[in-house]
Amino acid sequence: MNTAIPAPAPAKSSTLAGNYFVSNYPPFSFWSEEQKVEVEMALNSEPVPGAKLGLYHHIPFCRKRCHFCYFRVYTDKNAKDIQAYLDATITELKSLAARPLIRGRKPHFVYFGGGTPSYLSTKQLTELTDRMKAILPWDAAEEIAFEGEPGTLNAAKLAAIKQVGVTRLSLGVEHFDDHVLEINGRAHRSGEVYTAYERARAEQFSQINIDLIAGMVEETEALWQRNIEETIKLRPDSVTIYQMEVPYNTTIYKEMKAEGKLVAPVADWATKRRWVKEAFAALESAGYTIASGYTAVLDPKRTKFVYRDELWSGADLLGLGVASFSHAAGVHYQNLTEIEAYHAAVAAGELPIKRAFRTTPEERMIREFILQMKLGRVELGYFQEKFGVDIAQRFAAQLGHLAAEGFVTVTPTQVTLSRDGLLCVDTLLHEFFLSQHRTTKIV
Ligand code: SF4
Repeated sequence: MNTAIPAPAPAKSSTLAGNYFVSNYPPFSFWSEEQKVEVEMALNSEPVPGAKLGLYHHIPFCRKRCHFCYFRVYTDKNAKDIQAYLDATITELKSLAARPLIRGRKPHFVYFGGGTPSYLSTKQLTELTDRMKAILPWDAAEEIAFEGEPGTLNAAKLAAIKQVGVTRLSLGVEHFDDHVLEINGRAHRSGEVYTAYERARAEQFSQINIDLIAGMVEETEALWQRNIEETIKLRPDSVTIYQMEVPYNTTIYKEMKAEGKLVAPVADWATKRRWVKEAFAALESAGYTIASGYTAVLDPKRTKFVYRDELWSGADLLGLGVASFSHAAGVHYQNLTEIEAYHAAVAAGELPIKRAFRTTPEERMIREFILQMKLGRVELGYFQEKFGVDIAQRFAAQLGHLAAEGFVTVTPTQVTLSRDGLLCVDTLLHEFFLSQHRTTKIV
């Protein structure tokens, strides 16, 4: 006889396990191993004249695994392992750079993400970037973006990051309260945030971004308000705020499962949205402008985010390293997600690919539309010119529904999201998917 007491039904706004953030289209669950052959064809094609090229380098190493992390990260690798990994990414880049799609092109933007790119030593970073530049020169790049964990950023490291050409340094602060940082498994503490920020300012990076998460475990009203105040005191060029989600492969989810809980031990969605709304209002009062559903910038004329904007406008992106994502001539693909398998494929001279998806022009149009909706404003002329599509007509039913809810306004030239629409934009985008892609399984 089963005597277990059934878990209470979750309230509508509860944070349940799963991904809510829409980062690409069609959803990853439709990408397949069978379509890997499409990547070869894409890389062997000629580039579309004028198409921008980006380079993404994935560093999958961290000091510690955060409890909310859903990325494939390694916390047990030594300097030799890291060097072997960096060597493999250079082999991968050399092979890609020789393909017709890439040959002769220069990256318009470069992004170092992770994991923790700032986990690399100064020597590793300098050698890696020198080798990358020798293969694909960065002299035409408008932006070199780099993610840093505050506790890894000593003065010499920051000087090296500046020296290799980084223009946008993003600090993974997440929270200013030491207890919240600790309980969520972050490696750094607030003291390291203030020191790293001061040092980064002294290096005069063109742009410093601070990442925050609204609704971490044990977040409170008072702590969140303090988070906003501390952020505004530092006056970074850009502030990015994510609403906490709890994907299945996180430590938090594993604990929920072991305890038979359906609802994650974090604030509900309505509260997280309100916190971001309050943060956006406070940032606006302090002179910031809201630039997307997640970002506020101090000077919108000067502070761009080229990686995001180009990616959301269909640029080619070469992703290097384990689990990285690419987009080549209309084909999405992701690299192998285990470091051993990635090494083996690169050593064998193969493309280290796990899954791929060739998009149709219609899917590319939908992809760009939903991603640009996250900016809070979509220019209809762009879609008419690039895809020959009248968005207002193509999506009349969906836009009519969202307009009735007060989430969007449609004019002859633009779709504009209201603040409430922007704060829940990821939940509005599924309506625009083709029917075969409307699934609850996003990853
Ligand atoms: S620092 Fe980022 S990538 Fe590393 S474990 Fe934490 S959330 Fe994951």
